[in-house]
Amino acid sequence: MNDCVFCKIITSEIPCKFLHEDDKCVVFKDIHPKDNTHLLIVPKKHIHSISEMEDGDEKIAGHLLHVAKKLGQDLGLSGYKLQINVGKDGGQEIFHLHVHLLSKLG
Ligand code: AMP
Repeated sequence: MNDCVFCKIITSEIPCKFLHEDDKCVVFKDIHPKDNTHLLIVPKKHIHSISEMEDGDEKIAGHLLHVAKKLGQDLGLSGYKLQINVGKDGGQEIFHLHVHLLSKLG
């Protein structure tokens, strides 16, 4: 977990501007944006992947979607995609759960 890039961002070991922060998650821009808007919604708890969620983590996962909805509203996005890559074969590169919010708008 100590080598986790996203944990280091959350603890400010790696500087990063948060677009949103609450008790459960942070939101920041993807360093290699794949669309005009490309945000990452990241839980503060280190959850390796959707496939390794523990009992109770569903509340955190639901919260990430709730924050995505609020971001979409706040940014005035009429449409966007949410993406979660699961496992190496699912395209996951950073093994700390995160939701991509992608939009051609913004
Ligand atoms: P995934 O393939 O779902 O694991 O996506 C990981 C994402 O994290 C990629 O889109 C990367 O561009 C992004 N990423 C990696 N390191 C950083 C970083 N230091 N700050 C922001 N985004 C990052």
